[in-house]
Amino acid sequence: MTSTLSDCARCPFAASERLCRTPGGKAPAFCPTRDLKQLTDTSLEIYKQDKYAEFARQASIQEAEAYADRELGYERVRPAKTRIEEIAEFARKMNFQRLGLAFCVGLRREAKAVAELYSNQNFEVVSVICKAGCLDKNLIGLDDEQKITPHQPETMCNPVNQALILNHSNTDLNILLGLCVGHDSIFLKEAQAPCTILAVKDRVLGHNPLAAVYNINSYYRSLKKN
Ligand code: SF4
Repeated sequence: MTSTLSDCARCPFAASERLCRTPGGKAPAFCPTRDLKQLTDTSLEIYKQDKYAEFARQASIQEAEAYADRELGYERVRPAKTRIEEIAEFARKMNFQRLGLAFCVGLRREAKAVAELYSNQNFEVVSVICKAGCLDKNLIGLDDEQKITPHQPETMCNPVNQALILNHSNTDLNILLGLCVGHDSIFLKEAQAPCTILAVKDRVLGHNPLAAVYNINSYYRSLKKN
């Protein structure tokens, strides 16, 4: 194995010419398709395990079904489904009945709408807010000055508790809605059921963090300076 670190994000070749898309295609110096074949072989073995075999198959079927006009060829396909629809379709493909909804207090209105939407589609929805348990931030070592509102009681976000509650409820699939950076990481580590993310938190950009990327050469150019 090579010690060069994979860096697909900076691959210089057109997507259709890349070794990972076209057998015999082009590969730069940091190409994992060429240099880490052993790991690729291992990945295929992992997909054969029961825990992923049907999951991976259905996820890729869902991926294809998210496009319309497939009969017209790759260059002419059109996106056809929102993520909120795709989550429901994928859950049905997998025969998942009970959906966990781990949401942020700041998105409680959205959580209510999402819970109703999936309930109306005959899923059983178990929802849990980030503040569940009402533990104060002092308990995880924050000083009073480090709270959003200093020197006041302030309930911590508790992604471990969210995961424990959804684990206890035997959810089939957990949906994350607007958890904070880091809190989402903890939830993903502690949740037993597979998880998918409906939305990530971005307080400035209306939970659309890519807006900064789409404007990186204009209004958000300062992000390139550091
Ligand atoms: S796998 Fe290789 S060819 Fe594909 S994007 Fe990464 S570096 Fe480029």
